[in-house]
Amino acid sequence: MSRTSRRSKALHASNGHGLAGCDPLRAARVRVRVRVLLLCVCGALPLAVILVLYFSAESSTSSTTQHHTADLSRDRLSHKPGKYSVAQIKKFAAQVDGHRLWETHLRPLLIQRVPGTAGSQTIRQHISSQLGSLSAGWTLEEDSFASSTPKGAVTFTNVLAVLDPAAPRRLILACHHDSKIFPTDPKNPRRVFVGASDSAVPCAMILELAASLDTQLKALKQQRSALTLQLVFFDGEEAFEEWTDTDSLYGSRHLAELMARSPHPSGAAKTSLLQAVDLLVLLDLLGGPEPLIVNHFDNTARWFDRLIAAEKRLHKQGLLTSHPSEQSYFRKDFYLGPVQDDHVPFLNRGVPVLHLIPTPFPVFWHTLDDVEERMHRPTVENLTRILAIFVAEYLSL
Ligand SMILES: [Zn+2]
Repeated sequence: MSRTSRRSKALHASNGHGLAGCDPLRAARVRVRVRVLLLCVCGALPLAVILVLYFSAESSTSSTTQHHTADLSRDRLSHKPGKYSVAQIKKFAAQVDGHRLWETHLRPLLIQRVPGTAGSQTIRQHISSQLGSLSAGWTLEEDSFASSTPKGAVTFTNVLAVLDPAAPRRLILACHHDSKIFPTDPKNPRRVFVGASDSAVPCAMILELAASLDTQLKALKQQRSALTLQLVFFDGEEAFEEWTDTDSLYGSRHLAELMARSPHPSGAAKTSLLQAVDLLVLLDLLGGPEPLIVNHFDNTARWFDRLIAAEKRLHKQGLLTSHPSEQSYFRKDFYLGPVQDDHVPFLNRGVPVLHLIPTPFPVFWHTLDDVEERMHRPTVENLTRILAIFVAEYLSL
């Protein structure tokens, strides 16, 4: 557009200069020159216009693509969460329903959920039906794929829920829905591994977050916000035998690769769904009493600080139960090393991560004692309230 304007301005100046003067011979020569010039101009102009249009279209396509790439990372880095008043904190905390979390969301998950089995299908239906019953209007998808394992080929299915698939950016909350293959108790064959903390409770917490924020999430979707929420329930986190790079993280390895191959926003040439992820918040091994959750990554430390702030503010308002000090769960003052988990395939591709897992692991980890009776209900409700504030502030609900 701007190049075409400059060219037509130059043409007018040239014509005005050529017609100046009053000598007849000179005027005739000038007229011939002007005709020749006009013929040349008339011939060259369409070509010039075509070239200008071609190059401006080219540059506009490439600048749009660069714009999207720059915008996604710039917007992610400069993202500012809402900062809530005491009244708003109370409102969001009150929306978390501990009874619904436990009875409606958690109980149906407390069965064997080994990939490719009927138990897995049952709990996937439970997750989908809970989210499908909400008013926010989640787009639900089952991401199924086959993979070879030490036990042969197995079909895995991640459950994905996105509030607004077209939104440029996403906050992801994730957990794994599968349970580890485990030998039953020889003295009591009916005693099976149900992985209450690993990871039925984290999945129930995510379902309760979606339910408790339903009204505000519906409004967020209606506003067509640039930032949306995605929920991911991974299959196949657990190893079938010993944990190795190939025998573990089946669902997250598959999804990270799939998202890296999926252009986003729609039609983008250089950006994928992975660049759309502002932050991946992974919950695992939660449910036991007195969890110590430490910060694992410097690049997301400011988001870990928001969790600390939410815990402190809820504590000061008396909105947490069985919570002895204002900073009981989220700590930045010590570190016990990294933990391999579903975030790794995303972390390796540059996705910012918050890994919410207690270290050290609960004493009942990978034992038949990882059951409902060992969970600490007030802690689970407290953590869900803290996360409700975090998510609401992140999305400015
Ligand atoms: Zn496990």
